[in-house]
Amino acid sequence: MKEAGLAWHADTRIRQAASSGGAARALLAGCLSEGQCEAVYTLMRQKESPWAAGALIRGHLDAGQVASSMYLPITALEHLRFTGTIKSMAIVGTTCQLLAATKLLKGRVETLLRIAILCKQQKHLGFTRFAGKRLGLAEPGKPDRVDYRGHGWPGRVTVDNRSLEWEQAAAIPFGKRLWRVPGCLFCPNPLGYKADITLADPWGLEPCDTAGKTMAIAWTATGSTLLHATPHLHFEPRLAPADIKRSIDWRNLQRKARLIRFYQGRNVPGRVALGGHLERIQTTVLERCLNKWRLPGVLYKVIAHLPDPLHLIPVSGERE
Ligand SMILES: Cc1cc2nc3c(=O)[nH]c(=O)nc-3n(C[C@H](O)[C@H](O)[C@H](O)COP(=O)(O)OP(=O)(O)OC[C@H]3O[C@@H](n4cnc5c(N)ncnc54)[C@H](O)[C@@H]3O)c2cc1C
Repeated sequence: MKEAGLAWHADTRIRQAASSGGAARALLAGCLSEGQCEAVYTLMRQKESPWAAGALIRGHLDAGQVASSMYLPITALEHLRFTGTIKSMAIVGTTCQLLAATKLLKGRVETLLRIAILCKQQKHLGFTRFAGKRLGLAEPGKPDRVDYRGHGWPGRVTVDNRSLEWEQAAAIPFGKRLWRVPGCLFCPNPLGYKADITLADPWGLEPCDTAGKTMAIAWTATGSTLLHATPHLHFEPRLAPADIKRSIDWRNLQRKARLIRFYQGRNVPGRVALGGHLERIQTTVLERCLNKWRLPGVLYKVIAHLPDPLHLIPVSGERE
């Protein structure tokens, strides 16, 4: 990487509404206003389900209407349609979306600026249903409105008119890797594909209950220049690789990557196979139970702290 640090939007109201610090929307708006890009592609909020959709934007970007992190399947690269060629475009997306966009736009966009959203897992609708159930909604599977993030850092999940702290809502679904879309089992690199910049939540780097900051990694000189020169974006480049590895839980990412071969049905060492089988059992049991029952709050905490089968899988420096 070139450099890394914390980044945040200068407008506190925008930071409050964003996923972490509003860096993504500041970068996109800046690319347009400073003339670096002819167009940008991002998810924008919409009123009806799935509450966000892709849009190719030229001219001006309304930062307040950019969707914060959406943890449900949204048709990838929808509305990325144009005639002729585009000189320069910035696109925000997860690893799989950037990979697809790169292939799709080859020969049609001269310079593609890739802003990756660190994505360890994307959820199917089971996660939204779980959040609705935890909040005691009568029909948790059919909400009228969901906001997964916002209200500062780490923020809150709001389903219809009820809300819950993000950390509480996410602890089991993300910690135990439940309700993942199938592709996540085979994703080797959550940090992006040929990315200029990767953006992530500032776990362990920013105290809770603040307006929020975004962890930003520049992989290219262009990414670095953007982080420093974007209007309305503050950037403090003070993170070392060790800080980033701690924040994103690098060792667990390595363990998860070793499971790809297991999920492909290939031969893997004994402890990897054991970890994989136990993860499958954990997924089935927890998803079924949590779909069926609404538990007292303390039980959710206990489940979140149960030992994780992933830890059985050795990574470099540990005995096979
Ligand atoms: C599915 C998913 C999983 C994630 N997992 C992690 C994680 O495990 N650890 C971590 O540190 N961070 C994770 N993130 C990233 C984190 O939630 C924030 O996106 C990141 O901190 C940038 O915040 P921001 O305030 O700068 O973004 P904002 O300024 O709020 O902008 C959000 C940008 O993300 C884009 N976006 C939102 N939802 C999606 C989506 N579903 N697919 C593609 N693009 C989308 C929007 O188009 C928008 O441009 C995840 C994000 C997503 C969408």
